[in-house]
Amino acid sequence: MLDADGGEVLRRRIATPHGDYGAALRALAEHILAAEKDAGERCSVGVGMPGLIDPGTGIVANAYNTPYNGRALKADLEKMIGQKTRFANDANCFALSEAVDGAARGMAVVFGAILGTGVGGGIAVERRALDGRHGIAGEWGHTPLPWMSAEEYPGPRCTCGRLGCIEQFCSGPAKNRDRDVMGEDAAMTRYVDRLARAFSSIINILDPDMIVVGGGMSKHDGIYSEVPPLLRKYVYHREPRTPIVRAMHGDASGVRGAAMLWDA
Ligand SMILES: [Zn+2]
Repeated sequence: MLDADGGEVLRRRIATPHGDYGAALRALAEHILAAEKDAGERCSVGVGMPGLIDPGTGIVANAYNTPYNGRALKADLEKMIGQKTRFANDANCFALSEAVDGAARGMAVVFGAILGTGVGGGIAVERRALDGRHGIAGEWGHTPLPWMSAEEYPGPRCTCGRLGCIEQFCSGPAKNRDRDVMGEDAAMTRYVDRLARAFSSIINILDPDMIVVGGGMSKHDGIYSEVPPLLRKYVYHREPRTPIVRAMHGDASGVRGAAMLWDA
């Protein structure tokens, strides 16, 4: 919970009840109502989540590891708490939070890359999260790794069913598979080149003012020192100077961004 100036008022974490949509929905609604009771007033409610709410049908999609997938979560939640809500993908919330008062404060166009168990991406433009026509704007992890070598092609099978997605090369587990075979240093050398290729396609298409990195892999300093000089090999500009920086708010960026969804 944030106050009108964006200061943190309350932070509370509960486990998601898995398996039963009704129980998970009730837990979410009660969580929100209890926070409002503590605040002593109604609050605007923003929800950040994996996957998306299909703008056409209102149904949650691509949120595979949650009990909310395939359900009309937004409509059901609004009925239970008696007010409107705003939803956004958690990577978009991450980008928004960092753009508003994090590492990318003051930047107009921000790409947020979450390099963790998977690879997520989100875009904030002028302090607003960009959803897109299908709610998938920024879903860069499920595009193919650019400029694959013969050895890389066609790439591992992804959770989305396709071959060679960036997620299969730039996630934490992907880097650890390499580490187990070739050692940490060689694995990181390979990793930063793949990440430079993956970021280059973002720069060629979106040309963001900054790329902010979160997720478990963001702790590796090599991402900030070794990727920028490699961009020159791949970006369609002779001297690319896109800053690549570590997120300021860490794991909290997703929920902070969700709380900011009503600000714009
Ligand atoms: Zn994929």
